[in-house]
Amino acid sequence: MNIHHKQMHAQMIDPFGRHVTYLRVSVTDRCDFRCVYCMAENMTFLPKRDILTLEELDRVCSAFISKGVRKLRITGGEPLVRKDIMTLFRGLSRHLESGALDELTVTTNGSQLGRYAQGLYDCGIRRINVSLDTLNPDRFRQITRWGDPDKVMAGIAAAQAAGLKVKINMVALKGVNEHEIEDMLLWCHGQGMDLTLIETMPLGDIDGDRTDQYLPLSLVRARLRERFTLEESPYRTGGPARYVTVRETGGRLGFITPMTHNFCESCNRVRLTCTGTLFMCLGQEDAVDLRAPMRASESDELLCQAIDTAIARKPKGHDFIIDRRHKKPALGRHMSVTGG
Ligand code: SAM
Ligand code: SF4
Repeated sequence: MNIHHKQMHAQMIDPFGRHVTYLRVSVTDRCDFRCVYCMAENMTFLPKRDILTLEELDRVCSAFISKGVRKLRITGGEPLVRKDIMTLFRGLSRHLESGALDELTVTTNGSQLGRYAQGLYDCGIRRINVSLDTLNPDRFRQITRWGDPDKVMAGIAAAQAAGLKVKINMVALKGVNEHEIEDMLLWCHGQGMDLTLIETMPLGDIDGDRTDQYLPLSLVRARLRERFTLEESPYRTGGPARYVTVRETGGRLGFITPMTHNFCESCNRVRLTCTGTLFMCLGQEDAVDLRAPMRASESDELLCQAIDTAIARKPKGHDFIIDRRHKKPALGRHMSVTGG
């Protein structure tokens, strides 16, 4: 191995000793839904030339895998509305076959699962996250604006039939779905699916007022305790969720609480946008462009150097705040850009 080769394959360890082993990649900023907490109804999407091609996405993911990423999550926007997306999954599955990658997963709104569930399974995907905030069809249409609840329910069924383990992600929204959390828990656990509750994060301008949506999960947890026995669980998926086992159902319940709890100490992840910008922390603006170094040469040397520069700048943690006076998000970019 020459020096360059060594550098390209050097593991990614940040200044705080954290090993970066998890990459989330947003493959598109577009979506077939317009969830109220995520997007404005009238969104302007990025021009095509700014978006990484499927080949570039494969290349950058593969570079990260060669540098120690063991878990890769494909997200968006809605990843499954990207044209020819299965080409990317098929390509990346070679890293599962070689053992370089432990896990390839997807976060999806479920609308395209009827079409793609079996194909995803065939590419070695075993677990997926589906975002579902309500079981009530009218409320589903209110929250997603453009979503079709029947299609999503059919998609979830298709995923389970294909053998994919499904975890449901539910964003807890004050006054919107907060009284449905128990029903969702019973439904998920009854279907053999884990449920993870997510606190809303102040990312990106939306049409409404974010301070109206924020529901602290500490409150949700206290309410659930009145009815269920929540047993702390050591279960981890490599992500930021903390889990409990619900004794009455035997199922798992996760909490992602960026606003009330800091999970930064054990942060092992970085996020790549669909334009090739690497964010080292979901809650900070600092970012490194990987697209220019990738497009500048056919070899991955410049790309790997840029990755090393980025990892050396990974911050210790974040500080989300919803500015209550101005009702503005702490960060201007949308979740659909970094993919959550
Ligand atoms: N479209 C896919 C989906 O909905 O699952 C993947 C992308 S979406 C941005 C990823 C996750 O982020 C979803 O579970 C969504 O509910 C969540 N999300 C979006 N905006 C959010 C916000 N402001 N606060 C918390 N979670 C958010
Ligand atoms: Fe689309 Fe997912 Fe954002 Fe909803 S949360 S608008 S499905 S990207």
